[in-house]
Parts: sequence; C-alpha cells; structure tokens
Amino acid sequence: MPEPLIFEKSSPERKGYLFSDLDVPISIDSIPPDALREDLLLPELSELDVVRHFTRLSQENFSIDTHFYPLGSCTMKYNPKIHDELASLPGFTDLHPFQPENQIQGALETMFELQNLLAEITGMDAVSLEPAAGAHGEFTGLLMIQAYFKEKNELRHKVIVPDSSHGTNPATAAMAGYQVVQVPSNSKGGVDLEALKQSLSEDVAALMLTNPNTLGLFDENILEISRLVHEKGGILYYDGANLNPILGIARPGDFGFDVVHVNLHKTFTIPHGGGGPGAGPVGVKEILKPYLPVPIVKKRTESAADWYYLDHNCPKSIGRIKAYYGNFLHLVRGLAYILSQGAFGLKKIAELSVLNANYLKEILKKYYDLPYDRICQHEFVLSAKKQKEHGVKASDIAKRLLDYGFHPPTVYFPLIVEEALMIEPTETESKEMLDKFTAAMIQIADESEKNPSLVKGAPYSTPISRVDEVMAARKPNLCWC
Ligand SMILES: *Cc1c(COP(=O)(O)O)cnc(C)c1O
Repeated sequence: MPEPLIFEKSSPERKGYLFSDLDVPISIDSIPPDALREDLLLPELSELDVVRHFTRLSQENFSIDTHFYPLGSCTMKYNPKIHDELASLPGFTDLHPFQPENQIQGALETMFELQNLLAEITGMDAVSLEPAAGAHGEFTGLLMIQAYFKEKNELRHKVIVPDSSHGTNPATAAMAGYQVVQVPSNSKGGVDLEALKQSLSEDVAALMLTNPNTLGLFDENILEISRLVHEKGGILYYDGANLNPILGIARPGDFGFDVVHVNLHKTFTIPHGGGGPGAGPVGVKEILKPYLPVPIVKKRTESAADWYYLDHNCPKSIGRIKAYYGNFLHLVRGLAYILSQGAFGLKKIAELSVLNANYLKEILKKYYDLPYDRICQHEFVLSAKKQKEHGVKASDIAKRLLDYGFHPPTVYFPLIVEEALMIEPTETESKEMLDKFTAAMIQIADESEKNPSLVKGAPYSTPISRVDEVMAARKPNLCWC
C-alpha cells in the first residue's frame, strides 16, 4: 500500500498545535487586497500523523544508508556520521559570516587546512573553497582561464571536450561563452590523439578532461595530451568531480593539469543527491593563482601566534563567485574525512574502489556486453545490447534492479555507449554486498532472455511502478549528480 498524499490523510479541524490568541491588533490594511485570499487549502493533521507520513515516505526511498547505490559518476559512498556530528558543533553552526576575524580563527583555520590538503592531494599551488558544486567549480575555472588570456591579450574562443565528457563540461564551456569543440574517443576509450591535434590551434583556450574518464578508463596518453595542449599555449582543465581512484596515488597537477575542481560531495563523503548543497573547490597552478575568487584564506606567521585572515586584496581576481565563503559546513565534513583517513587511508580508498569495480566488471562481462574490455578504475560501463535483442533496454534492467533491493546504476551515460549501464560500487561496499549485486544482475540477464516481459514490467515491489513512460521514451533516464 503506497503512503497516501498528505491531503488524503487530512481531516477537517485536526491540528498539529494551537496558536495562542493574538495579543497585538490585527491589521490587514497594509496588505494589498489582491494579495489577500479568503481561504487556503492546507492539510489538517496532528503532529503524529505528520511524523508518520514523512517517516513512511522516507522509507519508500532508496538511500545510501539503506541500499547499495552503484550510481556511476555520482560516487554514492557511505557518509560517516561522525562528520555530521563535527559539522554540528555549535562553534561551527552558530557562526555568522560577518563576525570579525578575531572571533572566527577556528573556522578560518579549518578552511586554510582544507585548502592546503586539497592542493597537496591534487598537485596544485592554491585552492579556492568557494564554488558550491562541481559545475560551479568548472565555471570558476573557465572564468579564471578567460581572465588569464585577457591579460595576455589573446583571443581564444574555443574549448575542447572529449565525446565521453560529463555533460556539465560542454554546458559550462558554452555558458562561459566558448565555442565547444568535441573530440572523439579512440578504440581504447581515451582521447583520439590525431583528432585532438586537428582540433588544437591558437584559438583554443582549454581542453577539459576527466582522467579516468566517464568510461572509468585511465587515459595513458595523458602526458602527450598535456604536451600537445601546452605547445599551443592552451590550458589543461581537470574535471576532478570524482577523484576516488587516484587519491593518494596520482595527482592531476603531475599529469600537467593547470586547473582542477573536486567535488567534496562525491569523493570526500558529503551526503548528496536530491540537489542538496555541494562543494566544488577549485585548485590552480601558479599561472592562474592571481585570478582566484576572493576572499582567500591566508595565514600570517610573523606574529607570535598564527593569525588567519580573509584576503580581499587580489586585484586580478575574477571576484566573488558565491555569497560568503562556500558551503562552510560541507568544508568541515570534507576536512574531517581527509584527516580521519590520513595519507594511508586515502590511498587505500583509491585501491579498494578500483578493486571493487574490477571485481564486478570481471563477473558481469560474461552476461553483459563490455564495450571497453580493459582494467577499469573506480567504475565501468556495460551495454545492454545483448538484452536489447530480446526487447529489454538498459532502463528496464535499472527498474528491475529495484525489485532486488538495489538502486540502479547510471543509465544512458556516457552517450558514446549504446544502452549504457554505468556502475560504480565505491570502496565502502563489502564483498558480500557485491556478490548479492552480481547475483541480481545475472538473474536479470537470465530473465531478459527467458521472460523479457517480466523485466519490461518492473518494478513490482515499489509503491509506484512506471511513472511516465511516454516522457521516458522521449527523454532518457539521465541521472547525473
Ligand atoms: C558529478 C560530476 C560533475 C558535476 O558536479 P555537480 O556537483 O553535480 O555540479 C562534473 N563532472 C563529473 C565527471 C561528475 O561526475
């Protein structure tokens, strides 16, 4: 039985609580008449009704705390609860953004430490914590690139993205006013070097790249790519939304990247999904440092005690790109994660996320088509091509997985794989859970052959089955977070 709508549970005159009588005169004269209404349809329930309603609704959902959630590219890993506890400390939550520096030394130190650790992890020279999400970090990065070329008096109006790139890359480049040039992938899933050479010119401001890319594959030509881009005076942008597989092992800065954003709400375990607040810090090499957004947290060491301050005095800065200083409590969570893991833990995360993904891939490739059969990084992309011969699409498999108690993988992305199923287990899952997942996927492969209509009618176990298939047929079930 699905939970009814809150309006269906409403009962006239039932109340959650009572207001006491007004002890001030009622004056509606100051409200314009057309803003007044006679009645307002609101549900009427007791507090207990409301609590049960929303608790039940929350239980009808899938979450990382209740289900395995292999949503490729989105890195739905476990979010340790201690981070929330730390971010809930009154010393952090009771701060006001306009408090004077001498009262917020702890908050500034938190930000300063995180800036430095992220710079070290990514191999960059400086970091801004301001951007509120991955795409916002990309936009910040491109604005800095623009400012850099403007100062050099170079008119560069193109940004290159590979055809496997995350959708935000071309979208950000277009929003920043660039002409987007796409380069194809080669047979190994990396950037086609010949095509890249053809596209590169003095018009190109930047190449935006994810490595490992959205196929979960590491581009072994990265040093050559870096050389080619820099030879033409271009900037190399690293989309580090998902840093999981290289944490503590390799650094974008060492590959030759000049600017990088990271998603704290993926790699660094900040709860996300549902569009909630994120954090997309951006790091730069020395050449782009003058253009970082203001303010930057700095430390003065000449006095007896360390002193942290917000530096607004950066004449070449692109300015402020978000109110205040980023999503501060997320920065606390990110720092808590890095410090609790330490250098050893971060490296272990990378190794286990790669091991888990390869474990799943090796089992599942016997049942599903694997277009790029190589060692993968933190994720891999299957194709439901074989199942499609029986009329079963990737979206059907995704919906059938719900019946087995799994959140579906990302589907129909990246766009270069037909009927794509993009699976990212993350390092936080146990072998037992991975085995349950492969068992379900194998079962669905079998059902697709023997009883395709069963899969095509799924899900059967959820309160609501297929919501709007007409819409879904027009618009693939894209899920990027
Ligand atoms: C998630 C993701 C982004 C976008 O991040 P948002 O925080 O959702 O804006 C960009 N690139 C890649 C590779 C991603 O996985």
